[in-house]
Amino acid sequence: MTILRVALPIPKRQLFDYLYQGNELAAGVRVRVSFGPRKLIGVVWGTTETSEWDISKLKSIEAVLDDAPIFDPVLIKLCSWLAQYYKHPIGDVVQTAMPVALRKGESSQAKPIEYWTVSDSGRSADLSSLSRAPKQRALLEALQKHDLVKSKAKADFGTAAIKALTEKTLIEPIEKAPSKKSTWQQDLLIQDKPTANVEQAIAISCIEAKLDQYGCFLLDGITGSGKTEVYLQAIEQVLKQGKQVLILVPEIGLTPQTVHRFKYRFGIDVGILHSGLNNNERLQVWQQSANAQLGIIIGTRSAIFTPMLKPGLLIVDEEHDSSYKQQDGLRYHARDLAVMRAREENIPLVLGSATPALETLNNALTGKYQHLKLHQRAGNASLATQHVFDIRQQPLKFGVAQGMLERIGQHLQQGSQVMLFINRRGYAPALVCHQCGFVEHCKRCDKPFTVHKQLYKLQCHHCGSAKSIPKSCQQCQSNELTSMGVGTEQLEQGLADYFPQYSSIRIDSDSARGKNKLDNMLNSINNNEHQILIGTQILSKGHHFPNVTLVLILDVDGALFSADYRAAEHLAQLITQLAGRAGRAEKPGEMWLQTHDPGHPLLQDLINNGYSHFAQYALLERQQANLPPFTFQALFKAQALSARDAFDFLQQIAQLFSHLDNLDCVGPIPALMEKRQGQFRMQLLLQSPQRSALQKAIGQQIKQIETLNLANKIRWSLDIDPQDF
Ligand code: ADP
Ligand code: ZN
Ligand code: ZN
Repeated sequence: MTILRVALPIPKRQLFDYLYQGNELAAGVRVRVSFGPRKLIGVVWGTTETSEWDISKLKSIEAVLDDAPIFDPVLIKLCSWLAQYYKHPIGDVVQTAMPVALRKGESSQAKPIEYWTVSDSGRSADLSSLSRAPKQRALLEALQKHDLVKSKAKADFGTAAIKALTEKTLIEPIEKAPSKKSTWQQDLLIQDKPTANVEQAIAISCIEAKLDQYGCFLLDGITGSGKTEVYLQAIEQVLKQGKQVLILVPEIGLTPQTVHRFKYRFGIDVGILHSGLNNNERLQVWQQSANAQLGIIIGTRSAIFTPMLKPGLLIVDEEHDSSYKQQDGLRYHARDLAVMRAREENIPLVLGSATPALETLNNALTGKYQHLKLHQRAGNASLATQHVFDIRQQPLKFGVAQGMLERIGQHLQQGSQVMLFINRRGYAPALVCHQCGFVEHCKRCDKPFTVHKQLYKLQCHHCGSAKSIPKSCQQCQSNELTSMGVGTEQLEQGLADYFPQYSSIRIDSDSARGKNKLDNMLNSINNNEHQILIGTQILSKGHHFPNVTLVLILDVDGALFSADYRAAEHLAQLITQLAGRAGRAEKPGEMWLQTHDPGHPLLQDLINNGYSHFAQYALLERQQANLPPFTFQALFKAQALSARDAFDFLQQIAQLFSHLDNLDCVGPIPALMEKRQGQFRMQLLLQSPQRSALQKAIGQQIKQIETLNLANKIRWSLDIDPQDF
């Protein structure tokens, strides 16, 4: 008889003891147990000789689900570290690390995958007979070349085309067992590659010199300097040794071109973990990676948990991207976890960015990471020139100054594309009554509704609630309701009217919703079907727009005065990334930034001296202000229907920490967004110059906090190294 310690999906910071009649079970094996009236799937985390509970009352394991552990020792260690560092329930950490299929207790062997294939008649069918149904034709053409996974076919061609071709009996479903092939090493077919320039060559050889040991590199290269090429050449060596590479990217949907480059260069299958996969497909990639059947695995944040039999290299691309930090549940940072993982696996890690996060940069400057720099654009491309445009006292048309409209016209006339950035989707950020000044507000969030003309809706961008646009003012019944401010929709409409001879396209989370929509939009832009590109943050994320020669940033003034101390860093990253979209090919480009504060030191420094200079200065400021990365923070957040409850709870927590030196306690204070979805939000910030002091203090109190009366009444969370306030 053994006592097993099991990680269960229960929000408690502990393991649970169960009896097992048999030889020891290895850590990492899933078991089914009963917990109160419920059946739960848990993961064995260890054994114990003694239990803090009465052994005679311990229940037995009901079933063992795996022959072998689903986690390797490194992943087990990482999960334990996550639970300890983020003070998070271990059971929930383990859940986060597992593919959904495994959480549900399904077999760890992936089921056969469903594909569409051509029928006998479909194989020989004449495509021209489908010329009136372009989607069907495209699907049949694709299937005549090779079978397509069902989810992919649906995403690319739509259900209507699939249904139509099935009814015509041109296509049929088949199932295929997951491939057991692991011959990618022999199949490697390296395509032609550019000769690395001097800086690239240095970077590549530094990484290659450390292929069999831990080392962390910051690949700090301006946009278009050939960072991806450095990854590719380093990856080549790793693959040739028969080892695997795991690459994290911010959002797969946003980087189809990059994914394609990895596939194309090496001619092998690439395991892609993106949100469009179903549970079985995701499990399959997980399995194939665990068995070393895949040489390259690319995925977003949670892909950092993908097991690898023969790990060789980790890469975090665009390491500054905020999507690497999970904002709910286990609030981990995938970049930090990547550092831990590389260390445990004893392999190198490359963090790449044109705009490194200040934390990362500081680690490079202090020598903790090796700093690899690329100063020049690769090939012949030149960097866009950067300028500010003073809009004080200037008339604006749909948010654009006259001088800028003229400049846009010039670029369009030369046959180039122009790109406009505005960080607000919808038509306008508020609807106001011209008679009495009343503004339509979301009552649950106390924020103005955004006007969406196309949907004919008012929408709250904080809680998603919506209603139709009223015809008259609630307060004075006047019909004179006007929108205030500018969003992407209005900008698009304004430009389309002003430049009717050119085609414009809007790229924001409204227009790019739906699978492959964004991909199609990007393709149509690269085919020059549109000349005026309008969009939000999405535009800043790594796409190459070789024909764009003018980037115009409409309004950033809000961010210059934000209360969040990270706002300056994020703004500098955004501006630099946007500027990097222009002039990528041989066409030189320019970037203009409209502002009411052209002399603002941040803007001036950034535009005259570049991101690196700005970042070093910003680090100095952080140091003087005792802010991260020179101090360490943890944030308790609480929300409740009554502000009092949230306040009292945090006040009780604050008292637990009040007597400690080396630890500052700020709050409780209202969150930056004080009310959301009808709940009041408060926060308490802990800060210490020593990470260990902060860790220790919270570690000592967290159980106590869990048992506070209010802890079970209100929603609260703890965020270690918070990014958002
Ligand atoms: P980044 O990842 O830094 O944005 P990329 O690796 O995508 O840069 O390179 C930008 C462009 O320059 C790509 O089209 C790439 O093929 C090309 N390129 C990269 N390195 C070289 C090189 N050494 N010589 C010529 N072209 C290069
Ligand atoms: Zn009114
Ligand atoms: Zn709301």
